[in-house]
Amino acid sequence: MTFEIIDFHTHPFLDERTNIAAHKSFCNMSCDNTKEIFKSLGVFKICGSVISLSKKESFEDIRKNNDEALSLAELYGAFYIPGFHVHPGCVEESISEIRRMSSHGVKLCGELVPYLDGWEDYSSEEFSAILRELAKHNMIVSLHSMESYDDAMDEMLLSHRDVIVVGAHPGEYPDFIRHIERMKKFENYYLDISGLGPHRYGMLRRAIDEVGEDRILFGSDFPTCSPATFIGSVLLDPLLSDSEKEKIFSLNARKLLNI
Ligand SMILES: [Zn+2]
Repeated sequence: MTFEIIDFHTHPFLDERTNIAAHKSFCNMSCDNTKEIFKSLGVFKICGSVISLSKKESFEDIRKNNDEALSLAELYGAFYIPGFHVHPGCVEESISEIRRMSSHGVKLCGELVPYLDGWEDYSSEEFSAILRELAKHNMIVSLHSMESYDDAMDEMLLSHRDVIVVGAHPGEYPDFIRHIERMKKFENYYLDISGLGPHRYGMLRRAIDEVGEDRILFGSDFPTCSPATFIGSVLLDPLLSDSEKEKIFSLNARKLLNI
């Protein structure tokens, strides 16, 4: 069986500034051949925000990456579903950014990567105000996860059951168990499989057995990680049925993004 694949978690780039691949000088990669790289792997659509590693001095630096996401959306057409960044240190600017992005038809906020943008608390009143605005625009929020964010993420979800939140990176055993507990508690919480995790045998089987097959999304974290690795971890997993693979690869994302 062949599968159509949507990569829900990527960070496309226009140039060197936002290409965060560690081995990029060995990869023959540019914004011009990103599409071909994915197409050769069977990925027909990618989603996600533009990120940069440089220190953010003001909201202007955030907006610059968001502008780049819009330019890439223009360049790539239907291939790319852009995501954008907000910053709880700049609530007003973030709210107008949400409205600006919404006017461009953008439906995805994130992946937000707080440590790269100079903030850390998902449970703050400031981030809450931003989530309320995102809810008004029916936007999906993709969030970087790591151990130190876990408690705040749980607290945030308690007061925002109306926002679809996709946590990124299953992580190692304790982190993965936290994701599963969260998915059991919050129907609006999804998990994308990018980053650490899928290399642990049985992780996807356990996720499906414990929380069902509808809230797990395929993601790679390209260009940080190699999409081929993640495709293999689903496609070649003998513990998954074809219909489960189909849901992870594209059907769940299609439903979520309404495409
Ligand atoms: Zn990422």
